Amino acid sequence: MHIVVCLKQVPNTTQVKINPETNTLVRDGVESIMNPFDENALEMALQLKEAHPGTRVTALTMGPPQAADILKEAVGRGADDVLLLCDRAVAGSDTLATSYAISCAVRSLGSPDLVLFGKQAIDGDTAQVGPGVADWLGIPCVACVRKCEIAADGKTATVERVSEDAYDVVEAPLPCALTVVKEANVPRMASLRGKMAARKLAIEPTTAAATGADPALLGLAASPTHVVRIFSPPAKTGGAKWEGLEPAEAAQKLVAELKNRKLV
Ligand SMILES: Cc1cc2nc3c(=O)[nH]c(=O)nc-3n(C[C@H](O)[C@H](O)[C@H](O)COP(=O)(O)OP(=O)(O)OC[C@H]3O[C@@H](n4cnc5c(N)ncnc54)[C@H](O)[C@@H]3O)c2cc1C
Repeated sequence: MHIVVCLKQVPNTTQVKINPETNTLVRDGVESIMNPFDENALEMALQLKEAHPGTRVTALTMGPPQAADILKEAVGRGADDVLLLCDRAVAGSDTLATSYAISCAVRSLGSPDLVLFGKQAIDGDTAQVGPGVADWLGIPCVACVRKCEIAADGKTATVERVSEDAYDVVEAPLPCALTVVKEANVPRMASLRGKMAARKLAIEPTTAAATGADPALLGLAASPTHVVRIFSPPAKTGGAKWEGLEPAEAAQKLVAELKNRKLV
């Protein structure tokens, strides 16, 4: 079986700032990490590899040269191959153009049986890329998956898809795409052997042209999304704070205040 895991390098969210003049994310000097949901997707791929000997896991990212760091991290954890799609032609791509570019990169790897994604990226947060890539590839996609089992004949995936207060058991024919949620697993750390393999790895970036992508479908010109404004919501001000009250007294005071304001 061949599994491709799509990994995005994102800024560490605890440090994200917005430039108030340009309304863009300030990325300079901000630590970059593997998108946390993608760690779960990678872990799912590695567990499937352990359960199905002979399976190969390819880690794929689209990003600037430094995105190679997360591919090395993936190799340290057990991925077999990597693909870094790095090309100015994809700059300015929205989720539609990004999905197209990634779908071409996936296709350039042959016909993978499974394409895994995180549920969403913690910076863009749209959760559109996984289903978008599946659509470009013409394969089914199951979103928000916490468990995946592949049939012994390698023809179907049986997955648990999480919803707000339940889960569905869904069967999908391979090849298919899955987006993975946090509760799927606990991602492993890189092994010492893996870290040594990653250190030796020289990652040659791949261009969009090498994946067979149509340049007319890449970049800003092929992106129908227009960002009108990005802003941080203003911090809440005012409000009352009661301190030093017993819980019962605080509850009574709160109820009285809510009644006073005709809210209950
Ligand atoms: C007009 C416009 C211009 C933009 N220009 C740029 C730009 O120049 N440079 C830029 O970096 N971003 C740019 N973006 C943002 C970019 O479109 C999104 O970051 C990207 O489409 C992913 O969307 P998302 O972050 O919401 O990911 P989601 O859809 O939330 O991600 C879901 C999953 O898809 C996979 N995934 C997502 N992105 C990647 C990736 N790059 N590589 C591998 N796997 C991935 C991961 O598994 C991830 O967990 C632009 C957006 C717009 C609207």
